[in-house]
Amino acid sequence: MNAADTHADTQTPSIQTKVSAIRSQHATFFASQKTKDIAFRKQSLRSLKREVEKREADIFEALKADFNKSVFETVLSETGLVLSELSYIINNLRHWSRSKRVSPTMLNFPSSAALYPEPYGCTLIIAPWNYPFQLAMLPLIGAVAAGNTAMVKPSELTPNTSRIIVEIIEAVFDSNHVTAIEGGIPTSQALLEQRWDYIFFTGSVQVGKIVAKAAAEHLTPTTLELGGKNPCIIDDTAAIKLAAKRIVWGKFLNGGQTCVAPDYILIHKNVKDRFVDAMKNEVQKAYGNDPKSSPDFPRIVNEKNFNRLTAMLEKASILIGGEHDKETLYIAPTLIDEPALDSEVMKDEIFGPILPILSFEDRSQIEKVITTYDKPLSFYVFSKRRLFAEQMIRRYSFGGGAVNDTIVQFANHRLPFGGVGNSGIGAYHGKATFDTFTHQKPVVKRGNWIDVPVRYAPYKGKLNILKLFLKYF
Ligand code: NAD
Repeated sequence: MNAADTHADTQTPSIQTKVSAIRSQHATFFASQKTKDIAFRKQSLRSLKREVEKREADIFEALKADFNKSVFETVLSETGLVLSELSYIINNLRHWSRSKRVSPTMLNFPSSAALYPEPYGCTLIIAPWNYPFQLAMLPLIGAVAAGNTAMVKPSELTPNTSRIIVEIIEAVFDSNHVTAIEGGIPTSQALLEQRWDYIFFTGSVQVGKIVAKAAAEHLTPTTLELGGKNPCIIDDTAAIKLAAKRIVWGKFLNGGQTCVAPDYILIHKNVKDRFVDAMKNEVQKAYGNDPKSSPDFPRIVNEKNFNRLTAMLEKASILIGGEHDKETLYIAPTLIDEPALDSEVMKDEIFGPILPILSFEDRSQIEKVITTYDKPLSFYVFSKRRLFAEQMIRRYSFGGGAVNDTIVQFANHRLPFGGVGNSGIGAYHGKATFDTFTHQKPVVKRGNWIDVPVRYAPYKGKLNILKLFLKYF
């Protein structure tokens, strides 16, 4: 248990009271209608942007301290992403918040119809540790943009980043509007006991189920951004060197602790040896002969995850890497050869710098492996055959994916990001973030100058006219 966790959670008896008090302050603030004002929302987001820019150097330091994340990767996958999402949402917010007319139906003649975007109310955001800054901030931006209040609980496993998140939120927002609370499982549980109007959770499947159960108690709508075992298929026509380069980048970024990273490789046996050689070369080019001394290679977040990951190496046949060091929580970029489907590394999402390679000769073998697991969050195909890639995309269900690259689907704010089945419910990024935190309220406005009598009782003799209306209008 880290300092933040101990500090917050040893006061367990008071957590419920504290959380409940904040929840009711948020409700009062929301009821004041202040968050419905678009100028207020935009001004809040602009202040947030300024504060993130001001604190960027501290965020770099925090992520370095939490798991040796480099400045480059922090800009790429944390602060840069948050700042560009802020700009995009600030610029489009007024337009998205307007009511939108939709065509009326003849059944309601005469009338007009419209969708009124409205905030849900008081929202709860629970974030994981692996992209600790952006996975707390992006949902927060959406919640505020859509006019909600927000309670943010960052992860206890990255205490330095969590502290900065709290400081930024305290500097920017009225605490009745947005509050951040540090703490571990007891804090999270206390938050989940409250009735929220929307819950946005990012984390593991296992905790996702706990969140879904708690939300069901109050019929609270949820977004669940979870994980899974993401396949990466490479056929015998793929551009092997380029594939290896893009896979090394997408897999070992963040030390492999990425929900959308390729979890395992399924490769045609004719190109496997070439691919393994290319991977060796690319790992060496990216992180040098000793990745442990590379300034760009992150560490495992804590000892629990380190032990979980090194257990996967115990009986494995290692093609590349495999070195590890408990003291510094270092695990080298590692490739494992042909693990059995019931081996440790193939049981669950790996979530670390370990990549198993399985070879196939025909599609039935691809089918057998992929259908062993629940629907993944991501899916990758490397091939020069468009038809093959298209068939793979259409055959399997997954949250999102890419052809001839990895994880890039995450970086386009025009593509909603989220899982399906076990990998999650709902999606966000860009406009989808605003939509996630918004209820589209449909309203019909009737005219009074004529009142078509068909729908009123007595119904005798009206059935055929009703059917005509239903069929043609
Ligand atoms: P986690 O599920 O252990 O923790 C996530 C959050 O839930 C933390 O804030 C934690 O304090 C809280 N929590 C943990 N146990 C809880 C409990 N019993 N009751 C209530 N709250 C609890 O996840 P993690 O280890 O922080 O993150 C890794 C997981 O998150 C991986 O499975 C990864 O795939 C997934 N993930 C998904 C996405 C996505 O966008 N889909 C992004 C990042 C991570």
